[in-house]
Amino acid sequence: MKTAIVWFKTDLRLIDNETLVKAISQNDTIIPVYCFDESHFKMTSYGFKKTGNFRAQFLLESLIDLDKSLRALGSGLIILNGKPEVEIPKIAKQFKAHRVYAKREVAFEERQTEALVQAELWKLSCELLTFSTSTLYHAEDLPFSIKDIPDVFTNFRKKTEKDAVIRDAFNQPTSINSPEIPMLDLPTLSDLGLESVSIDERATIRFKGGESEAVKRLNHYFFETKSISNYKETRNGMVGANYSSKFSAWLALGCVSPRFIHLELKRYESQFGANESTYWLVFELLWRDYFRFMMKKHQNKIFLKSGIQNKDLSINKFDKKALENWINAQTGVDFVDANMIELQLTGFMSNRGRQNVASYFCNDLKLDWRYGASYFEQQLIDYDVCSNWGNWAYLAGVGNDPRGNRYFNIEKQASDYDKNKIFRDLWLKR
Ligand SMILES: Cc1cc2nc3c(=O)[nH]c(=O)nc-3n(C[C@H](O)[C@H](O)[C@H](O)COP(=O)(O)OP(=O)(O)OC[C@H]3O[C@@H](n4cnc5c(N)ncnc54)[C@H](O)[C@@H]3O)c2cc1C
Repeated sequence: MKTAIVWFKTDLRLIDNETLVKAISQNDTIIPVYCFDESHFKMTSYGFKKTGNFRAQFLLESLIDLDKSLRALGSGLIILNGKPEVEIPKIAKQFKAHRVYAKREVAFEERQTEALVQAELWKLSCELLTFSTSTLYHAEDLPFSIKDIPDVFTNFRKKTEKDAVIRDAFNQPTSINSPEIPMLDLPTLSDLGLESVSIDERATIRFKGGESEAVKRLNHYFFETKSISNYKETRNGMVGANYSSKFSAWLALGCVSPRFIHLELKRYESQFGANESTYWLVFELLWRDYFRFMMKKHQNKIFLKSGIQNKDLSINKFDKKALENWINAQTGVDFVDANMIELQLTGFMSNRGRQNVASYFCNDLKLDWRYGASYFEQQLIDYDVCSNWGNWAYLAGVGNDPRGNRYFNIEKQASDYDKNKIFRDLWLKR
């Protein structure tokens, strides 16, 4: 009898989950686990929590949904709390597992944890098998080796679109053989050192965690409202549920895979037609892929103030007062403040908003961009290490921007994208 642990991390789904599918096909018994890594709930050196209330709530909802789906197939989810390098080997030993299956990591800290877990498992003669499951294009199918991926997005995109193929998504398993798994035992927000959240009624949508909700949102955005057919025209919006897909939070925790979104998009196009808008969603998902591959290529350089460009940013400093004013929407610039209130009260901000408040932070306030990125890390419901730090570095002029410095004229942006002040009034007039 071969027993394997499936270690869920940011891949909280059953559809298109290679890790789970391979574990089932290569073993007799499966033990699905999720570990609340204590380091994810600590303060960072920048003075912010690594995980804030909104994302933690979304995570708890996602785990409840995952457990429910696993139980429907004959299994369930075991929750561990502590350090993965201690807890994963402990459970492997308890169930005499010969292998642990998990998602392959790309970012620095996550890779360190993966290596520690692997080293401890080796001591038990237990193997760690990892799978790349979070991108649209599989890393092995790219027309370049990771070290040769162009540092300019357009060059990456054009060659990838021309020479690479998106793999098929894996089907959801139909049954899982597991021993009896005890009832789901989740920590509360207060166990995690956090507070319960009530989302402001002005929030664009109510993000609820879990694969079922991700599929619901996808159906709503594609098939029910056909909003996807106008995405290119509306994507720079700031008010309302459907100006953009809002898939990001589910993508960040892996409640849905980009490949499944792509598959559904093709199904949509075959029924309702393809246009620039349907293509543009794939274009944006390619940005997401790109930041992942850049993280793999440049590793911890992405987190340095000087970034991958080794640029001298000594002019950009730490200024507590200016940082607090930015966070608390007290900059006096109404477009920036309205966006910061939305982030504070909902855990979400539009892409247009993010670009503006980040540019203002780096170029107008001349602050050290890593503090802004770290605040986003705490606050965003859709925080994703590669997309967040990659976009911040880009805007700070130390990342993958061939233009060097992306300065946003906030006044012009406000009048272009919030001409009638609908967005600003929504958030500033309480
Ligand atoms: C400073 C800054 C920080 C950001 N931090 C994050 C983050 O932590 N997590 C995150 O998912 N996105 C981040 N983004 C990217 C982008 O703002 C969000 O993905 C988007 O606003 C989410 O809304 P949506 O799902 O409706 O996007 P849509 O416009 O519907 O796009 C569809 C999907 O494409 C991907 N995507 C779109 N734009 C980008 C982009 N610029 N970079 C990477 N992927 C993109 C996302 O997965 C998104 O869900 C950041 C952008 C900036 C400028």
